[in-house]
Amino acid sequence: MTTAMHVYGRKHQQGWNTVTAIAMAVFHILAVAAFFFIDTGAIMAAVVLYFVAGMLGIGMGYHRLLTHRSYKTHKWLEYVLTFCATLALQGGPIFWVATHRVHHQKSDRDGDPHSPREGFWWGHMGWILTGQGLHRDASVLNRYAPDLSRDPVLVWFSTYHWVSNVLVGLALLAFGGIPYVLWGIFFRTTFGLHCTWLVNSAAHTWGYRRFDTREGSTNNWWVAAISFGEGWHNNHHAHPTSARHGLAWYEYDLNWIAISTLRALGLAWGINVAKVRSAMNEDILLPDEEAVA
Ligand SMILES: [Zn+2]
Ligand SMILES: [Zn+2]
Repeated sequence: MTTAMHVYGRKHQQGWNTVTAIAMAVFHILAVAAFFFIDTGAIMAAVVLYFVAGMLGIGMGYHRLLTHRSYKTHKWLEYVLTFCATLALQGGPIFWVATHRVHHQKSDRDGDPHSPREGFWWGHMGWILTGQGLHRDASVLNRYAPDLSRDPVLVWFSTYHWVSNVLVGLALLAFGGIPYVLWGIFFRTTFGLHCTWLVNSAAHTWGYRRFDTREGSTNNWWVAAISFGEGWHNNHHAHPTSARHGLAWYEYDLNWIAISTLRALGLAWGINVAKVRSAMNEDILLPDEEAVA
């Protein structure tokens, strides 16, 4: 077994990841099929689940809490956010966090799991389709997420990350039938996957660079709009532990607004916020008393 840092990247990931490739083909076909079953209630269910999985789950849970620990919260709420994230069909918490930490360590260099410098479509979704066993090898992944591997609940979620969509899918089937499943599961997860993948592809390709970081990350407004603020990706690479990614007033960051709401409710504390005002000559955020560099 080679070390994890050498198995990521286009030239290192050999062979088809058959299960993932078949699943992706099926999900894309059924996402298109949803358009033949237009149903207002089903589309509303998909919108709600898109916010639950993408904002509460991926943005606030997997990314800003579990990967970067940019704020603190109760353990029970961490598990709730993790459950929401599994609904995004982006794997369990240990896989997601480990992969993303490698991305920050190797950004746009050899060993980056999904750099668009190895091809735009590779960085977008090609990277999840190849590399046999790459996504499930716990011994490799644990090295990058030892903090998560010590938590039996997060280990459980990592093994059974697909269960949440089965349960929600059955509930949707019972409540509204086939249209609800097509929109609420297949269209919603497929659309959400592309939103996250665009952070890796488009927000490393198009947009403006406020910070002269070593990788090619960009701030991209339309990626931010569909990913709840994750598209302010150049800000994020420059200040990875900041819970706030949109740093100027015009950088709309819904995940940050939601984390601020948790703080107002007494459910989030110890929040890191990028202290960047002195480095810039524009209308930028005021760091609060908990701010870090
Ligand atoms: Zn990045
Ligand atoms: Zn990150």
